This record gives sequence, C-alpha cells and structure tokens, in this order.
Amino acid sequence: MSLHIPFDNTFARLPGAFFTAQAPQPVAEPQLLAFNADLARLLGIEAGDVAERTQVFSGNRLPEGATPLAQLYSGHQFGQYNPQLGDGRAVLLGEVVGTDGVRRDIQLKGAGRTAYSRGGDGRAWLGPVLREYVVSEAMHALGIPTTRALAAVATGEPVYRQEGALPGAVLTRVAASHLRVGTFQVFAARGDLASLRRLTDYAIARHYPGVEGPMGLLSAVRDAQARLVAQWMSVGFIHGVMNTDNSAISGETIDYGPCAFMDVFHPQTVFSSIDRNGRYAYDRQAEIAVWNLAQLASALIQQMQDREAAVEQATEIVHAMPDLIEAEWLARFRAKLALSDAREGDRDLIEDLLRRMTAGQADFTNTFRALGSDRARDQFIDPAAYEGWEAAWLARRDGLPMPGPMIAAANPVFIPRNHRVEQMIAAAVAGDYAPFHRMNAVLSRPYDDQPEADDLTRSPLPSEVVEATFCG
Ligand code: AMP
Ligand code: MG
Ligand code: MG
Repeated sequence: MSLHIPFDNTFARLPGAFFTAQAPQPVAEPQLLAFNADLARLLGIEAGDVAERTQVFSGNRLPEGATPLAQLYSGHQFGQYNPQLGDGRAVLLGEVVGTDGVRRDIQLKGAGRTAYSRGGDGRAWLGPVLREYVVSEAMHALGIPTTRALAAVATGEPVYRQEGALPGAVLTRVAASHLRVGTFQVFAARGDLASLRRLTDYAIARHYPGVEGPMGLLSAVRDAQARLVAQWMSVGFIHGVMNTDNSAISGETIDYGPCAFMDVFHPQTVFSSIDRNGRYAYDRQAEIAVWNLAQLASALIQQMQDREAAVEQATEIVHAMPDLIEAEWLARFRAKLALSDAREGDRDLIEDLLRRMTAGQADFTNTFRALGSDRARDQFIDPAAYEGWEAAWLARRDGLPMPGPMIAAANPVFIPRNHRVEQMIAAAVAGDYAPFHRMNAVLSRPYDDQPEADDLTRSPLPSEVVEATFCG
C-alpha cells in the first residue's frame, strides 16, 4: 500500500490573517533516519515504503490532501514582547483525526524559509532534530502531555551555525495543535478583534469543547498548564525556554530547544545557553507558567464587551493557578513517595527530601526510584542525611511494608539524560545512529527495569557533564 495520510484540514480554512501558504522547500539528498510506526498507526497513516516516506517527510514531495502553510504568532521572549514571530522554519502540512478520535497537526520542522523567517535560514541541524525526537518520545512514554515525533530525515545539505557547517535535518512533529499563547497575543496586540474571536472559537471547539467563552477557555488552559508544569517538576524536567510562543493552548509540552532533565538535584538548575538570568530555572517554572497565563488573559479580554468585569474574572482565574499547581505538585510527589492518602505535613516531608538531595548532591531520578533501599542512601554524599529522612517517611507510612510496585509505577528508571543525548548526537554526526535507536527503544519503557541498559541510568562522570544546551 502506498503512503497515505488521511488529511482533514481545518486550520487552513481559517481566514488568511492566520497564516501564509507555504510549501516545504526540497532538499538535496534526503535520507530517512527514523519513522515512528506506532504513532503512524495511531494517526491512521498508511506508511508506504521507505522511498515514499523519505520523499514526504523531507518535504520533497507534498502528500495528497496537504494544505501547507506557516502559522503567524507573536510572543514574549524572556519577558520582552516580540510583535511578530511565526513559523520561521516549520510548515504545517495539515491535520488528521487519529484512531483515538483526537485531531492532530502534522508539521515539518526545518522545511525551509517562510514569510516569518526574519534572518533565519528556515532549517534545522541534525542535533536538535534528534534531541527533539528522543526527548519528546521519552516524555510521551513517561505519560506527560507532549508533541511527538513521527519522522526524522537527514537532508544531505549543510546548515551553518556558530559551530560551522553541520548536517541538516527535518523533523516531522505531531501536536494536538500548534496554537500558542502567542497566537492569541498577535491579534490582541494588533487590535484585530474579529480574528481574536475566531481564534477563540476555534481553540474551544478543537481543545475544550463545551467550555463557555474566552474565560472558559482561560480556565481550561490554566488547568492543563498547571498539570503540565507539575508533571515536568515530578521528573526533573527543565523546559529551558518558556516563552509565551512556546506555551501550547492544548497543554502539551512544545519546543524542545535547550531543554534538559536534571541529574543531581538542584532547584536553581539552568541549562539553556541563552537563559543568562535563570528566568527559566527548574524552580521558577511554576511562577512562569502563571506569568504566561496572565499574558493569555490579557489577550483574551480584549474581545470582551464588559472589560471591567472581564478583568476581574480573568484576574480571579489567573490568581487561582498557583494553588492548582501546588495541588498537582503535591499529588505527583505523594505518588512518588507511595503515599496513597493526603495528610498535613506531606509538603514538608517532600521538601525536606528535596533539600537533603540538594545538599547531598543526590541524583533525582535514581534516588526516587530507589526509595527505601540502600541504593537511595548511596546517592547521598552523607548517607545519614537520607537515613534521617527515611525514618520520617517510614513513620508517615505507618510502618506499612515497602510499596515496591507503587514506587516503580511513579518513578521512572530511565530519563533522556543530557550527557547521553549529547553523546548520541556526536555519534550520529559521525554516522553512527545506533545510540539514537537504542535510546528510543529503552526510553519507550521508562518505568521498566532493563538491566542491559543500566549504563543509561548513570549520572554523568565529571568529564561528561553538560553545562549548557543550545537551541540549534
Ligand atoms: P524558538 O526559540 O525555537 O521558540 O524560536 C523562536 C522563533 O524563531 C520562531 O518564530 C521560530 O520559527 C524562529 N526560528 C528559529 N530558528 C529559525 C531558523 N533557523 N530559521 C528561521 N526561523 C527560525
Ligand atoms: Mg518556539
Ligand atoms: Mg525552538
């Protein structure tokens, strides 16, 4: 059966103000690096043969039914409003409704220049494409809402970055949608209220059917984002660039630029090379999620008739978010400690462990997975620091037997460790894709013990530590 994507496009039918029609630009010598057959099945795609996939997912051949376009948006980047961003290197091919009934975008990232490219080349290099493939699929396997990776193709063309000439690549990204806080901001800032209203209706119909009006949408996005940021924190994830253009209305994780998972726990950890002031440090993510929601609120209220009442309502919705995040955070960390009920003092117990982990330079993932065993104690410089906490935890659990399966279900063995991601990229650049495929296979079952992959559970050696990650 030849390759077939059952497109059913709705965004392309919106008014022209929302996008610019743009076909992906062909590349010289495409080579298919990865194809996510499980995801293709979910999307109802007939995968065809390798030659067809290579043509379609490189952008060299437009599949039947595609209506390719680049989306317009704006956003706050590191707190500064940029009036025009948009898909500078991405082309939305269209949407499909999966076998689960969910509508999703299929987008080629790195598909060439668009009307919104500004000074950029519209391309991506291999490193960030493989990083996004591995990390977004790992995120999905961890059970955290995220965009996904359908395919990766090497272009056979060089891309020029600070490091020099690098191999180019195209990622096929799948998302519940690519609507961002910034998609609303651009029309609000321009005073284009007709487009703002149209977009609000579209977002409600697509993501939160049944909610009422702009404030209903705001509440729904708040709830989804509150859950998301708590989930990130529960696996030690640092998004790295939580600009409002990287904040999805769907509540999915989007834009795997300079993101990273922590090894040794430290709440102020920053990886991103462009985050000089630590705006998007691990422990600031909750506060930033609220800040981003406030920007969405500001945009949405522009369309309200009774502005004063709308401001009051929006303020209430936004102000409720910190407590919602806190509640989600508590729920996640209670699960990580195998606490099946809620009690006074749980927050202190969790924070006490995190403080001791910071002082003891304990690996976040390995400590939680090993709670209650000697392997947890061994994570700490001073094992007594762990033992003191463990006694309090055992008391909290009323001396019940060790809840091995509960710990295992809530605490992954495997995360895409940053030094491993970097090593995987270096190998791929040298032509060896085995580490890439191995990481994908192991990380697809992050909660299962896989003794043969024990090396992927190690914190980095001093020589392997990655100090900064780059956007590419
Ligand atoms: P990001 O930091 O990934 O959220 O990207 C910010 C903006 O820069 C978005 O509008 C991107 O589309 C655009 N952009 C990033 N890289 C490129 C590139 N190589 N060429 C054109 N536009 C780009
Ligand atoms: Mg972005
Ligand atoms: Mg990016």
